[in-house]
Amino acid sequence: MQSKFEKLKSFIMDNGYSMVEYKSILNSIFRKKIWKYEEIVGIPVDLKDNIMQNFWNEICSINPIYIKNYEKANKIIFQINGWEKIETVNLSFRKDWEDYCISSQCWCNFGCDFCSTGKMGLRRNLTVEEITDQILYFYLKWKKINWISFMWMWEPLSNPNIFNAIKELTDQELFGLNQDIITISTIWIIPNMYKLFDTFPNINLTFSLHSPFTEQRTKLMPINAIFPLYDVIKALDDYIKLTGKEVYLAYTLINWINDSKEHAEEIFNLLHEHSSVDLSFYHIDLIPYNSSSENSTYYKQCNKQRLNNFIEVLNSKWISNSVRSQFWTEINAGCWQLYNAIK
Ligand code: SF4
Repeated sequence: MQSKFEKLKSFIMDNGYSMVEYKSILNSIFRKKIWKYEEIVGIPVDLKDNIMQNFWNEICSINPIYIKNYEKANKIIFQINGWEKIETVNLSFRKDWEDYCISSQCWCNFGCDFCSTGKMGLRRNLTVEEITDQILYFYLKWKKINWISFMWMWEPLSNPNIFNAIKELTDQELFGLNQDIITISTIWIIPNMYKLFDTFPNINLTFSLHSPFTEQRTKLMPINAIFPLYDVIKALDDYIKLTGKEVYLAYTLINWINDSKEHAEEIFNLLHEHSSVDLSFYHIDLIPYNSSSENSTYYKQCNKQRLNNFIEVLNSKWISNSVRSQFWTEINAGCWQLYNAIK
């Protein structure tokens, strides 16, 4: 399916105009940050009228219906075409730095047992413009775009539109962003990941591990039965060999479920026995579990002592690790907390 900008280009050409008019419109959007087609100057009036009749007047197709702020985190719920809702999170970790976690699907059907989003089922894949408009919304507000993570609410590699969305985000005529400020966080769909490496070799990867034990990981994350861990490790090694980049393994620590010293030991064993690259290419991104009113009955955040014990084991094995900061969980804007809660 064509994106908004591809359709616009075809429409302009089909109506007897040229790339001059198309580039003039892009210039108004991406340099002057114009929100409505009617505000664009420098193109023929009849072309502008025609565009407004065929593309509506609003350049950004998604509409914020709920915004919640906490410290330096903003959670926005957008209404998209068809009255569905998606969530986007904007984080300002430090001065002059704006980080975005954007959605690629409307909810998710992968059924990870600890995840609120996964309990909602998949409504549909987002279109290219519904993905990129989450960034366009902030771009038109003159906000910086320092980092984009396809994280939080979906499995990005299960939506084929992700490829065209990244293409547009990195297109120098459009957003002009670098691949290396984009992270794909995935539970892993192996056939699509080779396409991802080949197409965007500079993109960053985070793989959701959450347990090194096959039986437990399959219980927590049913996808493990289709793409087993050992196959994934081989694929991650291939990514490292191709790109020379580090891979993050996201690991949520759930109290008395997957936060034991044995789990930490087994992460080392898994990498040591099954990876063929230097283990310094793997970094464990520890995330104390984020509960929400939808998922807190069984799963709880690990306590500080168990977190420290876990880190101690990883450090003793020289496995690089860090603990993700969490200030945005206060507004249910963290991993596994997104379920369109307007509160
Ligand atoms: S963790 Fe990700 S892939 Fe799993 S159910 Fe939640 S949103 Fe879907």
